[in-house]
Parts: sequence; structure tokens; C-alpha cells
Amino acid sequence: MRIADRMKSIPFSGIRGIFEEVVRREKMGEKIIHLNIGEPDFDTPNHIKEAAKKALDEQKVHYSSNYGIPELREALAQKLSQENGLSYDPNTEIIVTVGGNEAVLITMLGLLNPGDEVLIPDPCWLNYFYCVQMAGAVAISVPAKEEYQFVPQIDDFRSRLTPRTRMVVINTPNNPTGAVYAAEALEELAHLAREKDLFVLSDEIYEKMVYDGTRHVSIGGFPGMKGRTITVNGFSKNYSMTGWRLGYAAADREVISALIRIHQYATICATSFAQWGAVAAVRGPQTEITRMMEEFDRRRNLVYDALRDMRRIHVVKPLGAFYIFPNIKETGKTPMEMTQYLIEKAKIAVVPGSVFGDFGGEFLRISYANSFKNLEMAMEKMKEALEKL
Ligand code: PMP
Repeated sequence: MRIADRMKSIPFSGIRGIFEEVVRREKMGEKIIHLNIGEPDFDTPNHIKEAAKKALDEQKVHYSSNYGIPELREALAQKLSQENGLSYDPNTEIIVTVGGNEAVLITMLGLLNPGDEVLIPDPCWLNYFYCVQMAGAVAISVPAKEEYQFVPQIDDFRSRLTPRTRMVVINTPNNPTGAVYAAEALEELAHLAREKDLFVLSDEIYEKMVYDGTRHVSIGGFPGMKGRTITVNGFSKNYSMTGWRLGYAAADREVISALIRIHQYATICATSFAQWGAVAAVRGPQTEITRMMEEFDRRRNLVYDALRDMRRIHVVKPLGAFYIFPNIKETGKTPMEMTQYLIEKAKIAVVPGSVFGDFGGEFLRISYANSFKNLEMAMEKMKEALEKL
């Protein structure tokens, strides 16, 4: 019995060992503060839950259309038009998926041929790399440098182009850096995509999580971009719905017709009653997002100020998401060593930046999806631990 060759390039996550240690310590009674979490620590807003409960009571428990329930696609088409300046036909150009995760995978499987090259800003959410590899294509890292607030520069994309380049991936607001790409940077990328006839996968799952008046811009809205952009989004982050497993992709009809064929054989459809909850999320009041973001902003300021105060730590103030990505190079420790050290000495769990790609090798990812009180405590302990170095 042998598993497929393609699995050789798909490892288990490099941080499993570290987090197994966190679990072991917690079982022994140690209290570890988790700054490694990739989901909001808020509950799903009540009106969304009520809509899903109602759907269950109304026996909306069967398969839906492969594309998703029409009511959700219509709500999404309106949202995309009003908020993002994107015009999609709800009947043929939007697919509801099992999380943004599925949307990314079916995009890669549906659009890439073996040997095609995909330019991916690095550090990044690793799924892009592995989904590209599952499609037999080649992921090419483009540095997202600290000196440019982790926004990848157009020259770094251009210098990595080859005749095999077929797609560019962008993720703004960004996991793990918290970077938000300005309209000008997106305009340059759009120009490149048109010039070189490239697809752009634009992962906008943190779109509502922006600070300091920063505006999220969708690249699909630039002239000539609709046919080549796959806009991926979801409900996990903005509406605290990670466990609902709902996301979506919007793209040209021909692209969606490829994606839907993979989706139909893999999942048939996203969970039907969860989709009714999502309709309430899109159409209902957005006040809880505002409340959540006020709290995230308070925490962002707390963590940023605390990190700035720590010796040998450099930090860029993030404009989006709920992550901050401090540079620890001057401490003399690698991100893995520092993560281990902080578990032992400060009882806090962070994620080593190196797991997000070659260019994450001087950083830690700290998630501030934890209470203000815990964050205060964690920053205090981290400072003390660093002073002992
Ligand atoms: N994109 C990014 C950048 C993410 O960080 C995540 C979740 N960690 C996702 C997509 C997918 O989220 P989900 O499948 O829960 O919608």
C-alpha cells in the first residue's frame, strides 16, 4: 500500500510539535496564554444563529444547488456590488464553498496546469503554497518586506516572471503580517496581470478588519480585471463563524464553471442551514462587526505599544486583520527557538514567522484574538522573558 507521490510535498504543519508541547504543559496544569489563534474570540452574532436555527426548524436540511442557495448568492452579489465595486451575476458567477479554504483549493485545481508558476507574497497563509502543489503547479515566493510594511513590491513580482507564470495570489488584509495593500499597489498589480495575461486570486477574508480609517480595495474592480480575478471571501473572520465552514468565490462565468465541477464532486454544496445564517450575516445589521473591531483596535494598540517598548524587537503597526508580526532578529534567536523560549519562560504561545515562508525567518506572529486582560499579562511576561536574554 502506497500513498500518492504528490503527498511528498504536502507536510504536516511544522508547528505541530510545538503545540503538542503546549497541550502537554496545559494537561500538567500550566496556564499558557494563547497568542497563536487564527480566529476571532467572539461569538457569532445572535441574529445569524437565529436564522440558521429557523432554517433547521423549517426543514432546510437537504442539499442545496451546487452554487449555494440563490438567496445567499443574491445577497452576496448585492454586497459585492455595493461594498467592493464588483459586478457578478448571482446565477453563474458566485459559488458558496465550505470555507475560504475550499475556494482556494478549487481555484488552484480548476485553473492551474502542472508546471504552471504562481507568484505568492511570502510570508503568507501557507494554504496557497500547498494548494498550488496539489495542482502540480509551482509556488514562487515574492518577498513581502518589513521595510515596505509587508506589502510586496511590483518589481519583486516582475523579476520573478517567466513564460510559465500563470497566476498571482494576494491576500489583503494579510495573514500573518496584518498588512493592507493600498489602491496604488493593487493598480500596479492589475496592470501587470493584464500585460502578462495572469489570473489573480484575491483572498479578502479579512476585508472588514481594517484600522485607522484604512480602506480595503478589491483588485477585481479595476478595469479589465473581472475576467481574470477570483475574489475569495468568507464568513469566518468578519462574522466569527469559523466553525460554520462557509466561504465563497466570485469570478467570471467560465472560471466558476470549472470550480463548480470540482466542488460538486468534492462536497456537492456547503451546509444548507448554515447558508441561511450567512444570508442573515450579509443582509442583517453590521453593528457587531463595529463593536468587535473597536475591541480589536484597543488590543492592537496595547500589543503594538508593548512590543515597541521591548528591547531588540522591531515592529510595524498593522493596518488590518488581528495579527502583529514583530521582528526578533536582534535577540539572536530563530523564530522556532523564540517560540519555544516564550512557552517555557513566559507561558505564552505564539507562531514562529518561519512557518509562513522563507521570508518569515526573522519574525513571530502574535494574534491578539484574546482578552485585553490576557494580552496585558502576556506582554508583561514577554517583556520580562526578553530582558533575561
Ligand atoms: N484565507 C486566509 C488568509 C485565512 O487566514 C483563512 C483562515 N485561517 C482562510 C482564508 C480560510 O478561512 P475559512 O476556510 O475558515 O473561511
